[in-house]
Amino acid sequence: MAVSEIDQKVGESITTVAVIGAGVVGLCCALEAQRKGYRVILFDRDEAGLGASFGNAGYLATELIEPLSNPQTLRSALSLWLNPKGPLFLPLQYFSRIVPWLLRFVGASAPEALRRSRTGLIQLNREAIAAWQRCLEDIGASEQIVKSGYLLVWESADKIDAARQHQAWLRENRIETELVQGERLAELEPELAKTVNHALFFPDACRVREPYLLCKRLFAAFIDRGGEFIQQRVTQVRPSGHRVTVSTELQDYSYDNVMICAGAWSKALLSDMGINVPLEAERGYHLTIPAAGSMLRHPIGSAERRFVMGPLDSGLRVVGMTELGGLKLSPVKGRFDVLSYHSSQLLPGLKNQGLDVSEWMGHRPTLPDSLPVIDQHPQYPQVVFAFGNQHLGLTQAAVTAELALKLMQNEASSIDMNAFKVSRF
Ligand SMILES: Cc1cc2nc3c(=O)[nH]c(=O)nc-3n(C[C@H](O)[C@H](O)[C@H](O)COP(=O)(O)OP(=O)(O)OC[C@H]3O[C@@H](n4cnc5c(N)ncnc54)[C@H](O)[C@@H]3O)c2cc1C
Repeated sequence: MAVSEIDQKVGESITTVAVIGAGVVGLCCALEAQRKGYRVILFDRDEAGLGASFGNAGYLATELIEPLSNPQTLRSALSLWLNPKGPLFLPLQYFSRIVPWLLRFVGASAPEALRRSRTGLIQLNREAIAAWQRCLEDIGASEQIVKSGYLLVWESADKIDAARQHQAWLRENRIETELVQGERLAELEPELAKTVNHALFFPDACRVREPYLLCKRLFAAFIDRGGEFIQQRVTQVRPSGHRVTVSTELQDYSYDNVMICAGAWSKALLSDMGINVPLEAERGYHLTIPAAGSMLRHPIGSAERRFVMGPLDSGLRVVGMTELGGLKLSPVKGRFDVLSYHSSQLLPGLKNQGLDVSEWMGHRPTLPDSLPVIDQHPQYPQVVFAFGNQHLGLTQAAVTAELALKLMQNEASSIDMNAFKVSRF
């Protein structure tokens, strides 16, 4: 196949960067590369923003600094799995394929590994909002983030000590919360079920107005700034010398640099370059109820039911489920029913209303230690990786992009990047 002429270096001073994947991480990387003066070409097999970035909860969850694999999760895993209304599913068809990943996941809960992951998450999450503000201010889209506050709720009165312990632990990590009950809780969230006994209120928490619209806004700014979008599926990335060939189903292109931001699909692209990374697709589900958008004032997380719901421009969004089922299985109808059940338990106004609901399932890109890969190819530094932000890809997209571009430009960063190396497994 011929290498496209159009994508060769334009003059001597403009260096090309191809970004593979137009999810929220790839879009932030593409814009950050433009800010650094590169000529950027963005590839996606779909239109921008239709992967996991389309249907997330829209919550900037900077307080989630505990890795997914920790002794407490592992202790409760079996009961969560066996509970038909629980949040954890391991489809039998996929079980034998997930076992090696699960073993690594268990290994990631060992004390030293856990400490390393927690430090990595703290570092990324502390910078996350400021990085988003820089990104959005630069493109005149600051209104896409709102300071919404967040409520983490418990129904069992005997879990008040759990809330207090969690609050103390968060404070040690410089995250302030208020323990709320009774009238104060009702004032904050009038339509919440009276069965909710107490909650931690995070007054500084932020959310986006609508995840998909955010992606469209980022994409529009990228195009306005001269970015090129190629809607083709990338089949292979082949670095050699100082260049990189990007092959799609239609043709080959050649660039100076490539950034792999293909979310849960990144594994195959790395595997063709001889790099094996234990990336899994952690399937999550959502319901969006357009007519119920004003029922809640804040995003709400249930500590016991383990799901999140909150207001977006498109309506009330209810999200949850951790289904380790890979990239190919179809969504399972029963998961939507579980989300519907839990949301109506916490928000009685949803019961029996016959409201229109849209359903969606997406793939979170998750590594066993809950940290992303933000790194360069060990032999070909012109290939940069930025993927694997698990449940926090929206939260961490802008900071991930800043760090990835610093790597590409050999600039030091204030964050210790060793935790995000592709060779750590
Ligand atoms: C139900 C649910 C709720 C969530 N809620 C939140 C939340 O509230 N807050 C938060 O921070 N995070 C949340 N997340 C996680 C977050 O959505 C993801 O971590 C994030 O969207 C990942 O972004 P990404 O750009 O890496 O991947 P994606 O958005 O999946 O984008 C990857 C892109 O790469 C493209 N692609 C893949 N392979 C190829 C190829 N070979 N050629 C061309 N294109 C390719 C895909 O088409 C896709 O557009 C949630 C996730 C789910 C599923």
